[in-house]
Amino acid sequence: MAEVVSPAGILPHIPDDLTLAQFILDAEHVRKPVRKNDAWIIDDQSGRKIGLEELRTRTYGLANALSIRYNIQEDDVVLIYSPNHTDYLVAAWAAHRLGAAVSGANPLFTVDELVYQINTVKAAVIITHPDSLKVALSSAHAAGVSTDRIILFDVEGADTAQKLTVQALVSQGLASVQNFTERKLAPGEGKTKVAFLNFSSGTTGRPKAVAIPHYSPIANIIQLATHHKVGEEYAGQRFEPGDICCGVLPLYHIYGLVFNVHYIFFCGMTLVLTAKYNFLDFLKNIIRHRITHLVLVPPQIVLLCKHPAVKSYDFSHVRYINSGAAPLSREVMEQLAQIFPNAALGQSYGLTESGPVISSWALDKKSDLSGGTGQLLPGIIGRVEKPDGTLADFDEPGELVVKTQALALGYANNLEATKETFVNGWLRTGDEVMMNRKGEIVVLDRLKEMLKVRGFQVAPAELEGCILDHPDVTDTCVVGIQDEYSGELPLAFVVLRPEAVKRVEESPPAAEEIKASIMKHVADNKVGYKKLAGGVEIIDVIPKNPSGKLLRRVLRDKAREMRMKPKAKL
Ligand code: AMP
Repeated sequence: MAEVVSPAGILPHIPDDLTLAQFILDAEHVRKPVRKNDAWIIDDQSGRKIGLEELRTRTYGLANALSIRYNIQEDDVVLIYSPNHTDYLVAAWAAHRLGAAVSGANPLFTVDELVYQINTVKAAVIITHPDSLKVALSSAHAAGVSTDRIILFDVEGADTAQKLTVQALVSQGLASVQNFTERKLAPGEGKTKVAFLNFSSGTTGRPKAVAIPHYSPIANIIQLATHHKVGEEYAGQRFEPGDICCGVLPLYHIYGLVFNVHYIFFCGMTLVLTAKYNFLDFLKNIIRHRITHLVLVPPQIVLLCKHPAVKSYDFSHVRYINSGAAPLSREVMEQLAQIFPNAALGQSYGLTESGPVISSWALDKKSDLSGGTGQLLPGIIGRVEKPDGTLADFDEPGELVVKTQALALGYANNLEATKETFVNGWLRTGDEVMMNRKGEIVVLDRLKEMLKVRGFQVAPAELEGCILDHPDVTDTCVVGIQDEYSGELPLAFVVLRPEAVKRVEESPPAAEEIKASIMKHVADNKVGYKKLAGGVEIIDVIPKNPSGKLLRRVLRDKAREMRMKPKAKL
């Protein structure tokens, strides 16, 4: 029967009395690889190197200023609405020093989306980038947060005169008497004290704030390090001090935040941080900074396999590539292996709710090109359940349910959704998988509503709410259709209001106008990756069961049958 206690290793002690900031920046008693290189972060553009002392000093200065000027304290939420920035982590750790939590938002969110996040987490201050300031100001205003509580990251050449910047606050904080007492956790408190509020739609409905305690990323780092045998005595393993990792994943997503950044720091590696990702610059940076480790999402890997510019470079120094956050086929993995012959390649799988990584390919294989997502990390128990609740056999499909030390607490202020997904210490992943005796997982499908577009979550319920605001629509259901580059694209089935139906009957071309107008309505109100790139289909009725529940699967299958597979765009 498919229940497996990970055979990948025994977990060492996981500290439950440290904040993430203390675990990464301070805790000298935690066993970590000894650094060979002082640079923790390299800014990919300027080449500026930032080491531990500078990170700690800036974190202290900012924490002091946040306390003095904004009275940020216990359980307040610092919302960061910005692309990656060398002070992003300083801002997060400063919040942690004060006992506050951090919520990262996509810097391209529209006012509608940002207001939702500000209100859901009750943000006390918003730290943003000059390019996102306009939306931040309108959103703060709409959410009733004083625009004085907006702080800007410093960006060379940008006009930051309107607001206080992080640099100004760091200087102020360093020049002032200490106004706060560093938040220390009692034994066990790390398991309940919230560090991050990251957004995920979970199984159903709109995005929800996942309450992630400090213990969760710390546990996941230790699970990963145990899985990868990170440590001096294991020289020659996948992650070693002195290795250099790219930092192109967004820090507002858990995969970027935990795996790509905190884990890399823990391993004594250097992070080349990219503020604004652009594929061609990324290729140049791999060479310029001698990047050895690539932590990526599938669309970036598809481009590495298909973009003609890739052929002009010699990537023989790259020795590790991980794909995560969405599925990647065996074919693409095999192509990637041709381009990076010296690299170990494979996938990792996880969820925001699981801190995030659940599985990653085992160390005894150099690479895993099978399309599978590797083996359960040490300490994790996985079981595969059939729809009737019984356990599936090994290699038989069913929903993956896991128990992990890195489990989140649940969805903030949403007991009902929490109870559905977090059941007696187990997490229902909503993913259909097959698992073998060794705890190796192949993700087959998603049972939950959520779509993944270029690795980003799209909640159908959120788009349906937006589409229902369109004057011609009376009912709708959004499903995903497959796309080689994006993974999935949202497609909306819509039922038109009688007046609109009449217009179409009188003049059939009106149907195309209405579809275009619905697509524009979504594009105007939602961030780019949520647009209805899969199209709009008009139907007479949305299938529902007798109690009115949407039969989403029926429409998903219908969309698949229609074989609407838009061509991958480069
Ligand atoms: P998120 O919380 O945004 O990380 O999304 C979690 C979801 O992404 C999972 O429940 C899966 O559906 C999907 N996912 C993450 N990693 C993989 C992977 N390696 N292969 C397939 N799906 C994945």
